[in-house]
Amino acid sequence: MLGLSRRFFLAASAALAARPVIGAGAPATNTATDVVIVGAGAAGIAAARRIASAGRKYALIEAADHIGGRCFTDTRTFGVPYDRGAHWIHTPDFNPLTKLTARRGIDVYPAPPGQKVRIGRRYAREGELEDFLALQVRANRGIADVARKGDAASAQGLPNDLGDWRPTIEFVFGPFGCGKDLTQVSAVDFTKSAERNTDAFCRQGFGAYLASFAEGLTVKLSTPATAIDMRRDIVVETPKGSISARAAIVTVPTNVMTSGEIKFIPELPKRHVDAFSKLSLGSYDHIALELAGNPLGFESDDLVLEKSTNAHTAAILANVSGTKLCLVEVAGAFGRDLAAQGEAAMVDFAAGWLAGLYGTDVKKAIKRSHATRWNHEPLALGAFSAAAPGGQGSRRILMEPLQNTLWFAGEAVHETLWGTVGGAWESGERTADAVLHRLGPLKPSAEIQAVPPRQKAQRVRAQQ
Ligand SMILES: Cc1cc2nc3c(=O)[nH]c(=O)nc-3n(C[C@H](O)[C@H](O)[C@H](O)COP(=O)(O)OP(=O)(O)OC[C@H]3O[C@@H](n4cnc5c(N)ncnc54)[C@H](O)[C@@H]3O)c2cc1C
Repeated sequence: MLGLSRRFFLAASAALAARPVIGAGAPATNTATDVVIVGAGAAGIAAARRIASAGRKYALIEAADHIGGRCFTDTRTFGVPYDRGAHWIHTPDFNPLTKLTARRGIDVYPAPPGQKVRIGRRYAREGELEDFLALQVRANRGIADVARKGDAASAQGLPNDLGDWRPTIEFVFGPFGCGKDLTQVSAVDFTKSAERNTDAFCRQGFGAYLASFAEGLTVKLSTPATAIDMRRDIVVETPKGSISARAAIVTVPTNVMTSGEIKFIPELPKRHVDAFSKLSLGSYDHIALELAGNPLGFESDDLVLEKSTNAHTAAILANVSGTKLCLVEVAGAFGRDLAAQGEAAMVDFAAGWLAGLYGTDVKKAIKRSHATRWNHEPLALGAFSAAAPGGQGSRRILMEPLQNTLWFAGEAVHETLWGTVGGAWESGERTADAVLHRLGPLKPSAEIQAVPPRQKAQRVRAQQ
C-alpha cells in the first residue's frame, strides 16, 4: 500500500522536471505561502490544483504517508488494485472527476446496471425484484414527505407496509447508502442527496484514478497539522515546523475535527463545533476476500444483496474488475460493532454469511483476506458523513469561513454529493474559488516585471 504512493511521488517529482510546474510550495521549517491546505484527499487535491492554476503559492500538507485519504488504492495486499475506501464512481456523467482528462493507462468503465438479490439459496426472480424496486420508490417518497415537514429521522418516512422487504430496504437506504441506520439519518439530508443510480469503476482503482489528478502537485507527506492559529492571518503548526499563510483550507474528516487532534487558536465557535458533531461519520467497511476458482459462480463486478430478516446483513461486490477479489460490505450499527471485534471476526462473518446464502463452504476457497476498519483509522475515525436528524443545515454552516482566513472543505461540506469523492472534489474546488476571491487578483511579481518581453512570452507558454 505504502509502496504505491512512494513510487507515485517519485514518479511525480521526476515528471516535474519535464512538464510544466502547476504549483509549488512544499513547507519546510517556518515557511510562508498564500494558502495552506490541510489534508491531501479529494478535496485537498482539488483545492491545490485550483490555487496552483491561479498562480498562487500553496502548501498542501498531509498527515499520512500517502495521498488520497478515504479514496486510496492498495496494490500490495492482493497484488491487484484493492480500494480501501471509495470504489464506486457515482453518476459518471456528472462526476467532476470524469470530466477531467485522465492519465494514460487509466481505464474507467461502466458498472453493470442493477444488482442481484439472494432470497435464501436462490436469486430473486424478476417479479420479486420489481416488488423490491417499487417498495424502494415508495420508501424514498415517504422519506421525502417527512423531509418536507421538518428534519426528522429518515426512519420515520418508511411506509408501514414494506412487509418482508423492510429489513433489506432499511439496509440499502441506511447502512449501505449512508453508513448509518435510518434512525440516525436526517430525512432532509437523505432527500437532498443526489441520485446515485449509475456508476463506473476504474480498473486501476478509484484511489489510483484520484491520485493521477495530483500529478505535478507538491505535497508534504507525514506532516500533520497539530495547531492552527488564526489570530493574525494563519499559522499552521506541524512537527516539521510552522507554515504561515494568508488563508487556510482544512479538509480533514469531521470525526477528526471533533476528536481535538488539531488545536485551533482561538477555539472554533460553538456553531462550527456543533456542525461537525451533527455531521459525524458513519461506519462502512470492506471485508476483502480472494476467492480461488470462483466457487460461487459470480460474474465480473456482480453486486449481490440479501433479502434479509434482520440488520445482520451485508452486500457483496464480487470479482472486482474481473479479478478474484470480492468485497463484502458491512456498515451501520451492525458493521460498527463487527469492526470493533477485529479483522478475524469480520472475515468469519463474511465467510458464514456467504455460506448461508450459497450453501457452500466458502472458507476453504479464501486464499487471502483483509478487512478495513475505518472507525479505527486515526486520520479518518469513520467512513463518510451523514447528517443527524435536525442536522442537515450544518453543511451550510461549514461553508462559512472563519475570520475570512479559514475555510473548511471536504465531502461533509457538500449538500447533495456528501459522502462521495465527487462531492469532496467539488467542495475543494468551490472553497479554493472563495479563497482566491478573498485574496484578490494576483499582482505581477517584481521578478516577472523585470523579465525582458521576449523571455516573458516564453515563461507564459511554459506555464500553460
Ligand atoms: C469504506 C468507504 C467506502 C466508500 N465508498 C465510496 C464510493 O464507493 N464512492 C464514493 O464516491 N465515495 C465513497 N466513500 C466516501 C469517499 O471516500 C469520501 O467521501 C472522500 O474520499 C472524502 O474526501 P475528503 O477529501 O473530503 O476527505 P479525506 O479523503 O478523508 O481527506 C482528508 C485528508 O486529511 C488527512 N488528515 C487528517 N488529519 C490531518 C491532519 N491533522 N493534518 C494533515 N492531514 C490530515 C487525512 O489523512 C486525509 O488524507 C467511501 C468511503 C469509505 C471510507
